Amino acid sequence: MTDTAAVLKDVFGFDGFRPGQGEIVEAVTAGENVLAIMPTGGGKSLCFQLPALLREGVTVVISPLIALMRDQVRALQEAGVAAGALTSGNTSEETDAVFEALSAGRLKLLYMAPERLAAGSGFLRRVGVAMIAVDEAHCVSQWGHDFRPDYLRIGALRRDLRVPLAAFTATADAETRAEIVEKLFNGEVPRTFLRGFDRPNIHLAFAAKDGPRRQILEFAAARKGQSGIVYCGTRSKTEGLAAALREAGHAALHYHGGMEAEDRRIAETRFQREDGLIVVATVAFGMGVDKPDIRWVAHADLPKSIEAYYQEIGRAGRDGAPAETLTLFGPDDIRLRRAQIDEGLAPPERRAADHARLNALLGLAEALECRRKTLLAYFDESEVGCGNCDLCDRPAEVFDGTTAVRKALSAILRTEEWFGAGHLIDILLGHETDKVRQRGHDQLPTFAVGKEYDRRAWQAIFRQMMGHDLVRPDPERHGALRLTDAALPILRGEAEIALRRDTIRAAAASRRPAVKAMVSEEDAPLLSALKAKRRAFAEAAKVPAYVIFNDRTLIEMAQDRPQTLDDMARISGVGAKKLERYGAAFLEVVVGEAQQMHPSRRKLAGRSAGSVYDRLLAVQADLARGTDGVDKPLSCSASQLAKVAQMREADATALQRLLGDRRAERFGPAFLDVLREAG
Ligand code: ADP
Ligand code: ZN
Repeated sequence: MTDTAAVLKDVFGFDGFRPGQGEIVEAVTAGENVLAIMPTGGGKSLCFQLPALLREGVTVVISPLIALMRDQVRALQEAGVAAGALTSGNTSEETDAVFEALSAGRLKLLYMAPERLAAGSGFLRRVGVAMIAVDEAHCVSQWGHDFRPDYLRIGALRRDLRVPLAAFTATADAETRAEIVEKLFNGEVPRTFLRGFDRPNIHLAFAAKDGPRRQILEFAAARKGQSGIVYCGTRSKTEGLAAALREAGHAALHYHGGMEAEDRRIAETRFQREDGLIVVATVAFGMGVDKPDIRWVAHADLPKSIEAYYQEIGRAGRDGAPAETLTLFGPDDIRLRRAQIDEGLAPPERRAADHARLNALLGLAEALECRRKTLLAYFDESEVGCGNCDLCDRPAEVFDGTTAVRKALSAILRTEEWFGAGHLIDILLGHETDKVRQRGHDQLPTFAVGKEYDRRAWQAIFRQMMGHDLVRPDPERHGALRLTDAALPILRGEAEIALRRDTIRAAAASRRPAVKAMVSEEDAPLLSALKAKRRAFAEAAKVPAYVIFNDRTLIEMAQDRPQTLDDMARISGVGAKKLERYGAAFLEVVVGEAQQMHPSRRKLAGRSAGSVYDRLLAVQADLARGTDGVDKPLSCSASQLAKVAQMREADATALQRLLGDRRAERFGPAFLDVLREAG
């Protein structure tokens, strides 16, 4: 395996494998037939690119999207790998160069669009193909959304060339898997790897709608300059929200299926290439997106199912660096999604399954504990850690909602399931509206029995009742709420139900979110300088920024501050070729930046507190992730450090007052040591 490790470091610049990659690389390199199911961002490409370099001959890679193929080839060439592509987008010079490299036996990876297989692949028999790798292998499934008829030719190609085949996909359901085995492997079950669905770097959060446009604008404002996607339920909303974002000073585009194909392509390319662009889109946006550094995904409307949710948020953070998501939902979303299922043309059993998939998502939206555990439980994964969702950040406040729900259910039954939440709430609150009086609903026993909550609270209770599928809007009764069987045990007093209180209150309180930075305040200026350098290279080479270095690599540079080219080589993502090409330029940025001090530090220049400050900073860097290096990153602001550096009477209590509990606990003792040595 030493060979493998050397190539991994040298070409890709990685110190180790991501979970699951090692075994797959080993099996593929050994020439086994392999089917690997990995979540998006799991690092599938490496699992065929690395074996391709370790094996004799050329590896043929079949991939469905031409633009992405071209980017992958560019990225490989940047890393010094002989790679080429044969697609309809090629210039004739490009095609000539590929054939020349092929016949000289130089090419290691040949990317091919599936259509190319129809045009004939006889030449492959003569050029020493080592193996076939199939990306997005689920495209072979006739029942899937991404079916590509030309994928059906791959099985024959494999038999023709008599080489091993490795298939990769993020779609794991059993039917699709069986179809892949049948169509690509002729029914012979390959060595199969199924990697868990967890994406630990993606922060999960839901919020009840409360001025959704404002909520999205605030979420984006806290992440200014980072690439993100906002998913909307309707085409017109994408345009309005994109305009609002632009007005707020963001670079934002809209995207939906009703746009001309050419305009859609332009939007996709801009998003792929530009740094920090926001795309406001319907779900039509996604298949053509392969950007590893999408830093956030927000849903302005509830997605249609738990699978759709997982897939859409999964587009964030494929590079493994922290990414954030926010999904908004409200009673109207639930009504709309239910109606879409009920009014669809699917047969009844399919509709029932769709309701169940929506219920799973609503259960996640109304979850009382950890989102990740709830989400992964749906995919039958139980051993999951988290600490990276809104409910782990701040546990939900729960109250016994049994009585409230029973009152609401009885109001629905007494009015014979003919009314929506608004009127029902009027009854519960004892409001004598015209409608209430005309129908004689002020005479009901449930009239005015719900005065302990206000309208807002009742709205949240009704929303949660819909979320728990106790009641469903009936499209044939203009959305009137009707009980489901799930409500009966509660009504009969055989079951209790816990509801969230904070979604009721948080809606009203709505605090402005803090600006989310990817690095500490100290390192932020250096990170922007590194990004600017990257942008310059990317623009000159006309490639997406991540082809030069991905975010994670720049973050590591900003934090570790390599001082020599040797240091630089140790940064993850800096392989030999990239070191040679870009190392010096980025090193210059790091070293140059060191001379540009933070204003708080500059004020101390020439004084002894200045060198104390530098030592505090070094100590802080060592402890940024705690003594064992596994805790959440934490740092003090520059002005806090400056104050510590100038403290006269330093002790634990004074530090605690200045830094707060968490920082004092992490850094206090070490800071005191520094001050004692200096004093
Ligand atoms: P996907 O599984 O979605 O196709 P990719 O192959 O595009 O994922 O990889 C996603 C990102 O992860 C890329 O930016 C890649 O450089 C990075 N990556 C892959 N393997 C590793 C590794 N072992 N160490 C660090 N980064 C990695
Ligand atoms: Zn959690």
